[in-house]
Amino acid sequence: MPKRKYDDKYLDYGFTFLEGRDEQLPQCVICHKTLSNDSMKPHQLKKHLSNVHPEFVGKERQFFELKLDESVDVANLSQLIVFVRYVHDQSIEEDLLFCRPLETTTQAADVMQLVDAFFEEEGLDWGKLVHACTDGAPAMLGARSGFAKLLKQKNPKVVTLHCIIHRSAIKDDDTTAQRSA
Ligand SMILES: [Zn+2]
Repeated sequence: MPKRKYDDKYLDYGFTFLEGRDEQLPQCVICHKTLSNDSMKPHQLKKHLSNVHPEFVGKERQFFELKLDESVDVANLSQLIVFVRYVHDQSIEEDLLFCRPLETTTQAADVMQLVDAFFEEEGLDWGKLVHACTDGAPAMLGARSGFAKLLKQKNPKVVTLHCIIHRSAIKDDDTTAQRSA
């Protein structure tokens, strides 16, 4: 059986791909579920979108996701780093959205305030946020469930997932995207 190859237009169905050992695996950009290589067919991908994410049918390309990370510098000061991932010209881009100092006593509401202020400044639409990942920010561990709750108030459809594995998956995505570009 020849392996199925990813096609850029599968992004229309909300799918990017991961490079497996010897095959490409379609991955949903909304919930990050990875399907088998055999499912790399338009009707299978469409089926996932319409069954699992019916609210995104017809506007698949208008979503983005946030990744909240944290870095601690030599002076032991924490920075909140927020990345955004979005669809642009048949590919998925990841950009640094902003970076702001974080108090060690930071609460979910403080993080939300920073993010919300940025959305306001940039005119970003909470309704288009599909996914937020906070695993990279240890100082926020205690605040994580609270932050997820606040996000739900902004957009009830937003999915908050643990994505420790996903952090490397993003890198894989990027290199394969560049290679095939
Ligand atoms: Zn999905």
